[in-house]
Amino acid sequence: MIVGLETMSDCISIVCPSCGADHGDDGWEVLQENEVHQMKCEVCRAEFFVSIFECERCVADNVISSLSEHEVKNRTCRACGHRPETEGEDYEEPCL
Ligand SMILES: [Zn+2]
Ligand SMILES: [Zn+2]
Repeated sequence: MIVGLETMSDCISIVCPSCGADHGDDGWEVLQENEVHQMKCEVCRAEFFVSIFECERCVADNVISSLSEHEVKNRTCRACGHRPETEGEDYEEPCL
């Protein structure tokens, strides 16, 4: 019997890129998809950026967290490597 496959998206958690503290799913569900959010780690007080998006190719949920806003904006799907289009920027579809 297979249990829990449908709850895989619950594995998503926000991890502090500075100290690695796991913030769990605390609040990420209310974050707007495809927006860059600034967050503050309660453990090390670092401010970092988080973006949540659903891959348009493989439909994986992604949470990208980084100290660099630029890096968060240049997100790629961690499951298939697909990079969503970003405004005003050329990008090349990776050949798979
Ligand atoms: Zn931290
Ligand atoms: Zn993907």
